[in-house]
Amino acid sequence: MASNEAARRAAQLRKQIADYDYWYYVKDSPHVPDAEYDKLFQELQALEEQHPELRNIHDSPTQRVGGKPLDIFPQVAHTVSMLSIRTETDISDQGAIAFDTRVRKELGLNENDLMVEYSCELKFDGLAINLRYEQGELRRASTRGDGTVGEDVTQNVKHAIHQIPLTLTGCDAPVLEVRGEIYMSRKDFASYNEKQRAQGLPTLVNPRNGAAGGIRQLDPALARKRLLSFFAYGLGDIQGWDKPATHSGVLDALDKMRIPVCDERAVVKGAQGLVEFHRRIAALRDQLPFDIDGVVYKVNSIELQERLGFVSREPRWAVAHKFPAEEQITVVRDIDIQVGRTGKLTPVAKLEPVFVGGTTVSNATLHNEDETRRKDVRIGDTVIVRRAGDVIPEVVGVVLDKRPADAGKPFDLFHLMHGKCPVCGSAIVREEGEANWRCTGGLFCPAQRKQALLHFASRRAMDIEGLGDKLVEQLVDGDIVSTPAGLYKLDLATLANLERMGEKSAQNLLQAIARSKQPTLARFIYSLGIRNVGEATAKDLARHFGKLTNLMHADETQLQRVPDVGPVVAQSIVAFFGEKHNVDVIKDLLDEQRGGVRPKESEAEPVEELPLAGKTFVLTGTLGIPREEAKEKLEALGAKVAGSVSKKTDYVIAGAEAGSKLDKARELNVPVIDEQQLLDLLRAR
Ligand code: NAD
Repeated sequence: MASNEAARRAAQLRKQIADYDYWYYVKDSPHVPDAEYDKLFQELQALEEQHPELRNIHDSPTQRVGGKPLDIFPQVAHTVSMLSIRTETDISDQGAIAFDTRVRKELGLNENDLMVEYSCELKFDGLAINLRYEQGELRRASTRGDGTVGEDVTQNVKHAIHQIPLTLTGCDAPVLEVRGEIYMSRKDFASYNEKQRAQGLPTLVNPRNGAAGGIRQLDPALARKRLLSFFAYGLGDIQGWDKPATHSGVLDALDKMRIPVCDERAVVKGAQGLVEFHRRIAALRDQLPFDIDGVVYKVNSIELQERLGFVSREPRWAVAHKFPAEEQITVVRDIDIQVGRTGKLTPVAKLEPVFVGGTTVSNATLHNEDETRRKDVRIGDTVIVRRAGDVIPEVVGVVLDKRPADAGKPFDLFHLMHGKCPVCGSAIVREEGEANWRCTGGLFCPAQRKQALLHFASRRAMDIEGLGDKLVEQLVDGDIVSTPAGLYKLDLATLANLERMGEKSAQNLLQAIARSKQPTLARFIYSLGIRNVGEATAKDLARHFGKLTNLMHADETQLQRVPDVGPVVAQSIVAFFGEKHNVDVIKDLLDEQRGGVRPKESEAEPVEELPLAGKTFVLTGTLGIPREEAKEKLEALGAKVAGSVSKKTDYVIAGAEAGSKLDKARELNVPVIDEQQLLDLLRAR
């Protein structure tokens, strides 16, 4: 490349990289995946190497570390600079071999000399931190910043990361600076995002940005919400401490001081040792509880490290040997809607296949409608896809610069689906306060069949013993049973032919199915799996309506006359019985020839007329009669039995050794009665 052309390209790259650095280091909100950034960075490095006149430009990102420290935090000048590490770009075994070759050359070793010893560690994907201990007490925690000046985040570290000891065990050196990585475990990252999603709030792009943004929150309470963790990997300034002669010795010493050091580390010899470590960790990567983007090799002898020294922003004695990136960019070809086991509708991006996190990915979840809209993912967009560990790949963001003029419209699930479930055609609903659209097909929707059958047969529903996961799977996948009514048509020969099913267990199952034919009306209602209708509501409905047909024909106003049935529950019930498929399944179940199920019905007995209607009881302590029995008797009289005491509680029934609930009742002035008074009450009614 001609010199002036190279200068122009270098300037362009520096500008682009500076922009990406701002979003990554200052805003904790990257605009492109690392792999994309690294490509540009390496292109710039190569240009600067080929054209010496382009070097020594102070504002080149190749000459400095990280980003500018944020001025919302006090600034801290590092006594010993916090550097970066060189990345070995070749992710094959060659990367490890190249590092060993370079080290040997720098040290002037030849073929006959001994192999170099290395300390091998994981490359944690988080944020570098310097912890300064003076006389064994944690005095200051600072970020790397630009390598020379970082941000003082002591308060956040003290509040948010309990793994970091405030006092060292067995070390009172005047100064000991521990360096390591703050990270967010995959589990904590997933649960944080899940909570955010449920509340319709923005989610974190990846655990690393979660950690970097978390520790740089102004409010320590917010930093704590991120659930951050820490691993040490080295030292900064030290005064008055006898440093071990090897890096692995340093890590062992830190471990003894009760500073978290990752167990997954090894001391190996020569290039082959590095290759084996890289391979072993690559195989383990998905199962680790946190993200890593590679491994780090460090010359183990501190004396050799000192001989090797540094080049600009990185030591010569260490290298990061990467794994395939866990984030890549690709194009969204289409957006599909998948129906889950509980009827939840999930938008899924159909992608131009891309190699990410070690596999080829062509589908990635968009989670739900709000998140898809917030990220504004459209068909035709270039998106960042993340696949880490064994979690399902997800779209974490759109590269807006690359949106084509003919990209699709903003996402609108209801209109895309014409208001219908893509699997069974039933109406879809999204209730207030709910993050997801759902199919109302229930028993009828093939996508929900297995779940519906398992629920139908569960102990508190129709109580069909022996009908478990594996069996339901075989029955549905083999097209033997498609709705609960199909269970009542099963015969011995069909069942005995199934996997892991002998004649004896087939007979037992048939008996259990036959026994389930006369459930209470409450159990039957509960077994239908109507959304928002749990056991307690099913009991209330059964008592109020007496007969199934009364319930099936009730409108929302009539339903809301039942205690505790509000507009959401009423709407779910009406939607359920409004689907012809659900009504057909019920007809089948009740049909004498086909299902033969006969719920025990009674005359409607409006709950309001029962003697204890509207009264809430709480049971506590040990009672003479089984608690379940007391509960059933109270409920039969129209009372509600709650689990905790509140202002709404009418009576607390206290047995022997009653504890905190009794205290709470006294505190709130709720009347307390003993077991004898309860029995009198039950008898009197
Ligand atoms: P780096 O993060 O790749 O490596 C250096 C860091 O590794 C150290 O500061 C340390 O915190 C960490 N580390 C983890 N485990 C370690 C161990 N066992 N021993 C020593 N150090 C360990 O390099 P960098 O200079 O901090 O940042 C460059 C990285 O940031 C690149 O991967 C780049 O892709 C990414 N980046 C991305 C964007 C973007 O827009 N996507 C922008 C800027 C930078």
